[in-house]
Amino acid sequence: QARAGHKKAALFDAAAYGDPVGNLSLISELMGALETAQVWMAYQPKYDLRADAIKGVEALMRWNHPRRGFVSPDLFITMAEETGQIRALTEWAVRQSIADQKTLAEAGHVVTMSVNISGRLLSDESFADFALEAVAASGADLCFEITETAVIDNPEVALGIIDRFSAAGVGVSIDDYGSGLSSLAYLKRIKADELKIDKAFVMGLDESAKDALLVKSTIDLAHSLGMTITAEGVETPTALALLRGMGCDTAQGYLIARPLNLTGLIERLAGPAVE
Ligand code: C2E
Ligand code: CA
Ligand code: CA
Ligand code: CA
Repeated sequence: QARAGHKKAALFDAAAYGDPVGNLSLISELMGALETAQVWMAYQPKYDLRADAIKGVEALMRWNHPRRGFVSPDLFITMAEETGQIRALTEWAVRQSIADQKTLAEAGHVVTMSVNISGRLLSDESFADFALEAVAASGADLCFEITETAVIDNPEVALGIIDRFSAAGVGVSIDDYGSGLSSLAYLKRIKADELKIDKAFVMGLDESAKDALLVKSTIDLAHSLGMTITAEGVETPTALALLRGMGCDTAQGYLIARPLNLTGLIERLAGPAVE
């Protein structure tokens, strides 16, 4: 309890970051960047192995800083979580994804949009209100990818919000499964449609018998709990073939496509699902 309270109250801790490369100035620039075209969404195809078609895309945020160039989302998302800016960033991501889904549909491409939802926001009913209103107003087909730490931090509220998403027809995906403190108790409590196995295991698939075993077990676990499974970090034809043999549902990774801007995605979707 004390931990959760501390997190909510926490201001961005410059000392903890040491600020060796001026991250503090980045933070102050982030909201401004949102209002310019510096921040944009990239979309990475999710390949449905049985349908042999791209049925969805994952929305990934990008920041092209005028002086620093590409800023890793692992850096600026983490900072935004610390400062609370993640709320505004995510609302922007949800709106942009909905608008781009409409553009894709107009170009003849029907895809589910998977949007990453920071765990911090799963303690905030008002974020859920926003997201569900946006979905209701647009009729968008969204899936929210969430990481498990969120649910463990504040299980009661988070599980309630996840139920609200499900009831409204928004897909729920457990991201980065296998990294961190994955627990079976968590899988038991959360009602998810999809499990995403962390790329750390998928990338080792064709070289490590142990990784292959863990991936196969996770696929079977997901299926026996009524979830589909997505493997991320699919980089080689060998990995894709192994996943197919293991009964994996969906593959995502550089082999199929890198994250693309909207124009690049429309071009990619016009071609064969796997090149
Ligand atoms: P994630 O949700 O696990 O996203 C998958 C990451 O794996 C992405 O990194 C993607 O570009 C990368 N990836 C995809 N295929 C491959 C592959 O074949 N090989 C390798 N090595 N990597 C691959 P990215 O775009 O740098 O994003 C990093 C993380 O930042 C994401 O991890 C997610 O946690 C966070 N993030 C990105 N955009 C958003 C956002 O809009 N909202 C939130 N809350 N988090 C975001
Ligand atoms: Ca994700
Ligand atoms: Ca992931
Ligand atoms: Ca991740």
